[in-house]
Amino acid sequence: MKSDEDWIRAARDHAVAEKGTDPADTPIAAILVLDGKEVARGVNRTAECWDATAHAEVVTLRAAGKAHGDMRIEGATLYSTLQPCGMCTFASIWAGVSRIVYGAGRGEVHEMYFEDRHLSTLDFVADAYKDDLELVGGVLAGECAELYYRPWDEVPEEGQAND
Ligand SMILES: [Zn+2]
Repeated sequence: MKSDEDWIRAARDHAVAEKGTDPADTPIAAILVLDGKEVARGVNRTAECWDATAHAEVVTLRAAGKAHGDMRIEGATLYSTLQPCGMCTFASIWAGVSRIVYGAGRGEVHEMYFEDRHLSTLDFVADAYKDDLELVGGVLAGECAELYYRPWDEVPEEGQAND
C-alpha cells in the first residue's frame, strides 16, 4: 500500500514529466486513488485547452469518471501537488471524494493561485462538510512548492491569469 507521500511524489513526478519545472507552464498534477489503486491522473490544461475549468483536479475527475464508469467515485482520495481551489474542492465533493491530500499550501505559493483573499475554501469546507471530507495538506510541501511562483516572486502581470 502506497503512502500519501508516495502518491504526492507520483503526482509531482507526473507534473514535471508533462509540464517541466517552469512555473510559467503551471506544472500542477493530480491523481485519484480508490482502494489503494490509481483510477486516473491529470495535469493543468487551462492554457492548452482555453478552458478555465481544466485544472489538474477537474481533468483528473473527468478521466476518473470515464475509467470508473460513474461520475461518483465514493471513498476515493484526490492527491494534488497544490492546494485545490474552491472549484476543485467542490467538484471533489460532487464526485464523492472522501479525502483530499495536497502538497504545497496557499501560504507557500504566490497569491495568484488563489481566488479568495480572506476566506480559505478548505477552511469553509472543513467546517461545513467535516464528516464527509478529510483534508490533509503539507505532504512534501517544499518539493511541490518549488514548482510554483513563490510568495516573494515578481510575477509578470500577464503571467497572473491563475492558469
Ligand atoms: Zn482548481
